[in-house]
Amino acid sequence: MFTGTGFAPDDSVLVTDEGGKVEGIVPEADAGSDIQFVEGIISPGFVNCHCHLELSHLKAVIPEGTGMVPFLMDVMQRRGEGAERIQDAITHAEHQMWATGIVAVGDICNTTDTLTKKRKPLLFYHNFVEVSGFVEAGAAGRFSIAESVARQMADTGPTTIVPHAPYSVSPALFNYISASTPELPITMHNQESKDENDFFLTGDSGFRKLFESLGVNLDFFIPPGVSSIRAVLPHLRTNGILILVHNVVTSAEDIAQIKQHNSDTYFCLCPNANRHINDSMPPVDLLINNGCKIVLGTDSLASNSQLSILEEIKTLQSAYPSLPIEQLLTWATSEGANALGISDRFGSFAPGKTPGIIQINNGQSIRRL
Ligand SMILES: [Zn+2]
Repeated sequence: MFTGTGFAPDDSVLVTDEGGKVEGIVPEADAGSDIQFVEGIISPGFVNCHCHLELSHLKAVIPEGTGMVPFLMDVMQRRGEGAERIQDAITHAEHQMWATGIVAVGDICNTTDTLTKKRKPLLFYHNFVEVSGFVEAGAAGRFSIAESVARQMADTGPTTIVPHAPYSVSPALFNYISASTPELPITMHNQESKDENDFFLTGDSGFRKLFESLGVNLDFFIPPGVSSIRAVLPHLRTNGILILVHNVVTSAEDIAQIKQHNSDTYFCLCPNANRHINDSMPPVDLLINNGCKIVLGTDSLASNSQLSILEEIKTLQSAYPSLPIEQLLTWATSEGANALGISDRFGSFAPGKTPGIIQINNGQSIRRL
């Protein structure tokens, strides 16, 4: 039995009420006669800290290994497909998350496409309403669209307006974001590709082509000569939860500055998406050696063949064979719940929580109990 933070002694029995609320963990001798034995590992349900459920219709549409800039251009071109197809894909993808043991999701929303599904959800959602706009002049308009999306999503779960990425948000837009919902978690895509750092370090980057193709005049932008995260760190909150997603090209010096700026930062890894887009892996050893708080996400079906935290764990295990399973499961359960600010309900088998109970068979498949 994995409790959310480690393995319980071998003879431990999880006691819950009929609704799945945890009452305690007791030795088998004290558990009475009505004990259900399960093979493999039982664990609290998984927390998926980074998803874009609204992009589920883009499954198997965008080719692998194109790199970050062609990927973004493809997503922008293809996201507005038929409404019925989008809704069907959302329903199917949510069911897949449920079936693979996910109980809670940090879900990026650029639109209200997931609203109908989230009114009858299988899972808990924190809506991260994402806003972007690299040109200062558009900041007020972009932010007011995000506010409208956030107002509509708010009755389906905690909802915060968040910046898209260092390369796509102007200082003015960061200011609007900072002024909204300071007490709840926020998130941002960070350092997903070398192109992103190069845009800020030298300006010589595929992102220039991306902006040109969108008709954005970049004459105002002078590369500051530091990595992308260091360029925008002054615009990000200094306290309150901040979840940075991807961190593929994050350096030890970046980590030091991030942690100094906000000690409540979580580093969310989406290894299958990194492999799909850039054929890369996040620097897990570097993050661990620098004492980072790590959580896991699936990203979207535009860059992943399934929404399964177990598949992310398996990919990390094959890239980093010495990672202990307790560590990976901790990232997938209690740390994920901490990052989304939902550890009162999810992430561990502590009394009073309803974290969902899952069975992992041979490290390969999931059954919900
Ligand atoms: Zn993403």
